Amino acid sequence: MYKGIECKIYPNQEQENLIHMTFGHTRFIWNEMLEMLNARYENNPDLKLLSYTALSSMIPQMKREFEWLKDVDSVAIQCAVKRLSETFDRFFKGLSKHPKFKSGKFVRQSYLSTIRGNNIRFNHNQRYIKLPKLGWLKCKNSFKHIENARIKSVTVKRKPTGHYYISVLVTRENQALPKTKQSVGIDLGVSDLAITSDGQKFASQRLHLKYQKQMRYWEKRMARRGLAAKAKGIALREAKNYQTAKRHVARLHEKISNTRKDYIHKITTTLVSQYDSISIENLKTTNLMKNHALARSIASQSWRQFRNVLKYKCDIYAKQLIVVNLHKTSQLCSSCQFDSGKKPLNIRQWTCPQCSIHHDRDINAAKNIMIIGLGQALVK
Ligand SMILES: [Zn+2]
Repeated sequence: MYKGIECKIYPNQEQENLIHMTFGHTRFIWNEMLEMLNARYENNPDLKLLSYTALSSMIPQMKREFEWLKDVDSVAIQCAVKRLSETFDRFFKGLSKHPKFKSGKFVRQSYLSTIRGNNIRFNHNQRYIKLPKLGWLKCKNSFKHIENARIKSVTVKRKPTGHYYISVLVTRENQALPKTKQSVGIDLGVSDLAITSDGQKFASQRLHLKYQKQMRYWEKRMARRGLAAKAKGIALREAKNYQTAKRHVARLHEKISNTRKDYIHKITTTLVSQYDSISIENLKTTNLMKNHALARSIASQSWRQFRNVLKYKCDIYAKQLIVVNLHKTSQLCSSCQFDSGKKPLNIRQWTCPQCSIHHDRDINAAKNIMIIGLGQALVK
């Protein structure tokens, strides 16, 4: 969801002093609160850890006591408290070590500040960034294409080189594709991998057939060479010929898998750019297990992958994926909903006895999937 972008900044002397002061003050608040929490725990180990809300409600009190805390970015002070609270949370979950006191001796120093209104923003050409208390700072690179609205937080740091950097956390750019107002249903099949309700068919690649010969050739050799090595008392990982055959088999598998992946990416990209709402059947693994036909079980691998990739693309490109439970999709007429009963798999086309529309079996199923999907989307 977010990404960090780092850039060198050039603070003037006054800004540099203020950055150092912020390092110091955020460190001070961290150490003060840590000491207080440690003391509280020593006095009574049964007390629950104070929440972030409880801790941050102590900040005003501390500011009254140590007035100079007000000289630096107040959000950075809050962030230090928040980080301490989060570190304690992680510590109690066993995910990190007990929080430690921070020392000013380290060359690497940093503080974090998060967005509040427009306290952090770039100027029009993104050559300068405005940070709380510091004002405008010159950046080395231009943060082109980053609208101010995408900024979440900024970490100001000094590196061991003595140079200053900011790391800006921004939301990922909007990757939503233009809306087309089109809906589609997709039927997944064996001879065609995907069939759309408006009649597009994406043929199955039949890769297992395409590479069958080569695969058999190398698999046989692998087995034979394995046996030969055993007979000679050579360990398999030492048997060069066997390893060569094994590598060939592995490469073929990789080739099949990559080709399939590329194809699925191509189809799903086409689909998410053409349609706003995509309905697809819910694949029940139990049904697939029952079916022993090799072609079907191989196709099922592609179906799963197809659905996963489609789901992920719908997410990032802001399209709707509707998963429907199959119900008589191959026996109902998508035009008049007449149920003309089960049809064996070899029947590829049929005519509806009620409305006499001639159907392609798969396209009709895809249309039904779309109808059910759109109905489901309305209910939600
Ligand atoms: Zn009909």
